Amino acid sequence: MLKRHSLKYGFGPNNIPQFQCPLCHAGVLRPSGETKPYEPPFSRAIQKESWSHWDDIQLRLCLILTCSNSSCGEQGTLRAEGGIEPNYDDGHGFEEWFTISSISPAPYIISLPAGLPDAVKRELLDSFDVFWRQKGLSANSLRNSIEALLTHFGIPDEVDGKWVSLGNRLLTYAETEPKHAEFFQLLKPIINSGSHGEEIQTDMLLDVFEALEIFLHNVFDDRAKRFEVLTQRLRDTSKGK
Ligand SMILES: [Zn+2]
Repeated sequence: MLKRHSLKYGFGPNNIPQFQCPLCHAGVLRPSGETKPYEPPFSRAIQKESWSHWDDIQLRLCLILTCSNSSCGEQGTLRAEGGIEPNYDDGHGFEEWFTISSISPAPYIISLPAGLPDAVKRELLDSFDVFWRQKGLSANSLRNSIEALLTHFGIPDEVDGKWVSLGNRLLTYAETEPKHAEFFQLLKPIINSGSHGEEIQTDMLLDVFEALEIFLHNVFDDRAKRFEVLTQRLRDTSKGK
């Protein structure tokens, strides 16, 4: 998973976060060209008013990103909104501070195993994409990824033409995979709050991402299968000697 710090906190203009390129997974998307913060005229106009305050200052950072892997060269954009805050480190003055409002193409928040079904992957890519704008929508896409996982595991979402709720699908799933079903059950209150429009704490959402990453690798990674193939090959080789 990406470092929690970069997913949770803002950054200064000299410390712009850099993410792995989601296209080649080898290079890093780096700002190319101008990286200076910009104060729009509407913010400057407010500064001229007698009632204005330092926290009325609004800054923008709009960056073109280019993948550092020269054979990839993917380009993207990052938009961040910010302002100034008292400098808490040295106790005097102010510093500029930004939070990302959109980044495209969206970086992978968690790594995805190669064997992950496409329907599940699509939902997770959506959850990465909207994470920066709307945590509730991101949680909602995570919920859709759990529904897609259950479909992949053969748990129907419709019986006799009637829609089956996630809760009931999990009860069916628990009959064959009680531990996995219990894990999904634990995620349910958090990913459901996205559908209900409730505010979601970033830390809780990141806990879901992190736990899901471990689960997906345990279930879909072909490393365990590859290990079996390799040990069998070594066994055959040593027998042949
Ligand atoms: Zn790239």
